Amino acid sequence: MDKTYTKGTLCVQAGWNPGNGEARVLPIYQSTTFKYETSEQMGRLFDLEEEGYFYTRLQNPTNDFVAAKICALEGGVAAMLTSSGQAANYYAIFNICEAGDHVVLSSTVYGGTFNLIAVTMKKMGISCTIVDPDSDVETLNAAFLPNTKCVVAETIANPALVVLDIEKFALVAHSHQVPLIVDNTFATPINCNPFIWGADIVTHSTTKYMDGHAMCVGGAIVDSGNFDWSLYPEKFPGLCSPDDSYHGVIYTERFGKKAYITKATVQLMRDLGSIQSPQNAFLLNIGLETLHLRVPRHCENALKTAHFLENHEKVAWVNYPGLESSKYYGLAQKYMPKGTCGVISFGLKGGREEAARMMDKLKLAAIVTHVADARTCVLHPASHTHRQMNEQQLKEAGVNPELIRFSVGIESVEDIIADLEQALEG
Ligand code: PLP
Repeated sequence: MDKTYTKGTLCVQAGWNPGNGEARVLPIYQSTTFKYETSEQMGRLFDLEEEGYFYTRLQNPTNDFVAAKICALEGGVAAMLTSSGQAANYYAIFNICEAGDHVVLSSTVYGGTFNLIAVTMKKMGISCTIVDPDSDVETLNAAFLPNTKCVVAETIANPALVVLDIEKFALVAHSHQVPLIVDNTFATPINCNPFIWGADIVTHSTTKYMDGHAMCVGGAIVDSGNFDWSLYPEKFPGLCSPDDSYHGVIYTERFGKKAYITKATVQLMRDLGSIQSPQNAFLLNIGLETLHLRVPRHCENALKTAHFLENHEKVAWVNYPGLESSKYYGLAQKYMPKGTCGVISFGLKGGREEAARMMDKLKLAAIVTHVADARTCVLHPASHTHRQMNEQQLKEAGVNPELIRFSVGIESVEDIIADLEQALEG
């Protein structure tokens, strides 16, 4: 696809470019396997000497066309889909970390990501140091160890809505010769391209705005191609030394800027198998076709809703990076001048009990374990998504026990506000 196309066009048309007489709409390659004329050719695929599809646990054309669209939107060089956002973050880290390695992790990341790294990956021998994303450079530097392999953070943290100073984090990561991995789920590539600010790898829970309709769980990993792994062969042996499971292939030598995604595909997907189903990738692609229309509407509705809440007498505080009163307004203006996201967090003067009462009275906004889709929804993280965290961890994650996470949809904003108004009054 023409590099000069802007995001609206990429959303609609990037990825699948039909040739003469081919289907206008991206086909679903509903097949586990692919046919070859000779066993020799199939052998070359297994040796990574030739590109091609052989088994959908590793790669499927439908998925790859959709990954190519996300890659174009993020401005990367290679991308892959995964079965969930969790799998995307797991693969993004595990692709360059092994037992004995260390990760620097922003304290405000989504509870599932926090648990993945601080609890589950710890059992795999990968340790982490948790840092406050607002820390100064000196404090961040102190978190690094000789065995640190990456820094992990979110553009806009779920649900604390902390905006990451991407440039600061990238500079610090690079000064320790490691990449910055940024989960860009909440901002989406419509509002922010972390690669422009120095991030090296971007991940997504495509389950959220990208799908946009709460149809399919999915994830994506995009590589900027900017981090030169071959400069640090001792730090990244998985990419820079022979892989015996592929007759000694060295990913950086054979695949250049595509080394990272190729390794994650042919090694991690092969062994761990968290591929997105082609059926889901097809639906994700339909969601992506309207991402550029939906995201601005989410942001516009969220800003109006945040203003309404800010002026309501029963509301104790509102946190939305698009509000001038937000601590993160300046960073949001720098990294996301067109808008941040559709998610607001707020607390009521009546605290946790009043939050539950108010949420039960909402009619349009539904209580669901989800966020960032077309329909307005609401959740109480301390009771739901983050309930595995203790008080201290909640505090570090920026999750006040009374915090209500309100995900503003793309309905008519008057109706969303009226729903909140009646629930707050009751
Ligand atoms: N990253 C962020 C920022 C999220 O909000 C979530 C889920 O809420 C995830 C990752 C995990 O994604 P999934 O639920 O698709 O596994």
